[in-house]
Amino acid sequence: MAGIYIHIPFCKQACHYCNFHFSTSLKNKDDLLLAIHSELKQRKGYLKGQLIDTVYFGGGTPSLLTAREINKIWEIITKHHKINETAEVTLETNPDDLSINYLNELKQTPVNRLSIGIQSFFDSDLIFMNRAHNAKHARTCIEAAKDRGFNNLTIDLIYGTPTTSHSDWVRNLQTAFDFDIPHISCYALTVEPNTALAQFIKKGKIKDLDEIHSAEQFEILLDQIEQHGYEQYEISNFCKPSQYAIHNTNYWKGKHYLGIGPGAHSYNGHSRQWNVAHNPQYIKALNKGKIYWETEALTLENQYNEYIMTSLRTKWGVNVDQLMHWGQFNTTSFIQLAATYINNGLMELHNNNYVLNRKGKLLADTIISDFFIG
Ligand code: SF4
Repeated sequence: MAGIYIHIPFCKQACHYCNFHFSTSLKNKDDLLLAIHSELKQRKGYLKGQLIDTVYFGGGTPSLLTAREINKIWEIITKHHKINETAEVTLETNPDDLSINYLNELKQTPVNRLSIGIQSFFDSDLIFMNRAHNAKHARTCIEAAKDRGFNNLTIDLIYGTPTTSHSDWVRNLQTAFDFDIPHISCYALTVEPNTALAQFIKKGKIKDLDEIHSAEQFEILLDQIEQHGYEQYEISNFCKPSQYAIHNTNYWKGKHYLGIGPGAHSYNGHSRQWNVAHNPQYIKALNKGKIYWETEALTLENQYNEYIMTSLRTKWGVNVDQLMHWGQFNTTSFIQLAATYINNGLMELHNNNYVLNRKGKLLADTIISDFFIG
């Protein structure tokens, strides 16, 4: 099984923390969609006929697409790629786009899962982040989506924001639980280079983020999630029993994916490829038959490190039999280092799988990088 990711690089306004590739000018939208159509046709061989079980419209803001534009992309996907009839088809959406009319239109498309960028149910946080929606949109869009029959929902929430007190964070989570959302992704606010947030901090307009505040909210998150019957199946991803996102899980399990659109990444097991993250350059290159991507062949060391990085973040962990793919020496080295972390109460061994426990998850980045080779 494999996946297709389509990057829609447009947003109504720039969120202060975001460093994804997007433009707030929609003037190239039609040309860009035509270029995406061409790329989908040109790269029909990339996944070598593997059955696609997830198609993900990400961005940017894919909910700026009309139902007609989504259906056109889908028509090309199904013509040139082998799609499982039960494929998960996700559309990333912003709450202010999810009007009743738009949701009704989406019912006429193959989209069967909505990922809603809620981030917070508080206006103070949303203003701080410069989100296009307000707290009222955040609530009403979930009600409207469920009302229109979109029950396969995931929402994003952000913690560690200076405007979010611990009690606000508990209320944010409680609101998500009250809506009975089956899948929740929670991310710590981080300062990415070249963002408005980084500039504000540099100029002293706002204080740097408080790591302790953020770590405390991560602990609150883990307590709340567990109490409300959600499973943490990846450091930042939580779901009701077994309601894993196919798109995310495929990525963590090393399945192959084809990334279409400016800035999109692709992976086929032995190399990574990424498209130019510039809308006019992407369009021009597609129109003129020029190269619009870069490729990196993955060494065995790269592949090992990626396996460690993605697996240790998940509940499935690192499997000893799979490690043998990188030879006895690397397997033995892993097991020896893991034994130290087990003794220190940060890892556990479950049926041949090494996993981070709760204490280990708090130090995930440091522990994971300790296992890297090369
Ligand atoms: S809507 Fe999403 S992609 Fe667009 S600026 Fe905000 S966070 Fe970034």
